Amino acid sequence: MSRAKGKVALVAGGAGFIGSNLCDRLLAEGAEVICLDNFQTGRSDNLQHLASETRFDVIDHDIIEPLPSELRSGRTKITHIYHFGCAASPPHYQVDPEHTMLTNVVGTRNLLRLAEHMSARLLLSSTSEVYGDPEVHPQREDYLGAVSCTGPRACYDEGKRAAETLAFDFLRAKRADVRVARIFNTYGPRMRCDDGRVVSNVVCQALAGDDITIYGDGSQTRSFCFIDDMLEGLFRLMDSDRAIGIPVNLGNPDELAVTNLVDLVVKMTGSKSRVTFEPLPVDDPRRRKPDISRALELLDGWQPAVNLEEGLNATIAWFQDERHRIAQPMFA
Ligand code: UDP
Repeated sequence: MSRAKGKVALVAGGAGFIGSNLCDRLLAEGAEVICLDNFQTGRSDNLQHLASETRFDVIDHDIIEPLPSELRSGRTKITHIYHFGCAASPPHYQVDPEHTMLTNVVGTRNLLRLAEHMSARLLLSSTSEVYGDPEVHPQREDYLGAVSCTGPRACYDEGKRAAETLAFDFLRAKRADVRVARIFNTYGPRMRCDDGRVVSNVVCQALAGDDITIYGDGSQTRSFCFIDDMLEGLFRLMDSDRAIGIPVNLGNPDELAVTNLVDLVVKMTGSKSRVTFEPLPVDDPRRRKPDISRALELLDGWQPAVNLEEGLNATIAWFQDERHRIAQPMFA
């Protein structure tokens, strides 16, 4: 495969779950890749297998600080910037909400200015969280959302909304070519067991025989997209020749309740774990499901191809291996 030959890609957040899978895919398709990560939630383990890859480099840096001069000097001509640089699970991004907000505002501005300087195209990873606790179902891109600007999720939700604002301001002013993906719940290998997300929590709890925690009564819904489908959507969005000056939802429209997910994981792992119920977090969206008709139209018929059971199979197998793996950090 050589879809990315000639590409010099900067992947901010390249040590994270989606970012590191993206680095692998870019390298497999022939790109040179520079990973920029502050290792707040990204892990060097995710990059260990790339230690001797000559087309791969890692820079340990926080995007809210001025970008390293080695990037700004222009010595390396970056052609594409993938901006995945932000903690994305609620417990992680809420640890330091001020930092989360600044990552999305100052960090995004820093990367947009680099894109401007390099005449590179930038893909911003935005989120379904921009729709907040939606009153419209499923969520189309023209729905403006119901977001609390004062709640504990606001640092991320409003941060991403502000990041989108900056991206489209740069685009309107013709300062940078940008693409904006609104990413819905995504899962797969390289999630963290301590991520706090429902898929990683439930799989890890089931494998360990620990109590499985359902927040609220478990009737809230999500729609889970497997990482490979997400990567394909991101590739198509970044590389499309069309002028896509609007945000595009990427996600799997198969919606299910949290209790159904738990039942499926318990069945697939044969776990003896008990299920316990804990309070629903503040501002936890009741329902979420992407309308992907825009992606279908603009990204040459893109739609997810991996069903939940297949995706969970791969994810469970990966977590099983992970439980036995010994971490030997090489970059951090
Ligand atoms: N959730 C749960 N148990 C867990 C973790 C999460 O029931 O151990 C719930 C959470 O309250 C939410 C849904 O599962 O309603 C999805 O949570 P996640 O953090 O994965 O994603 P997000 O809320 O950001 O969509």
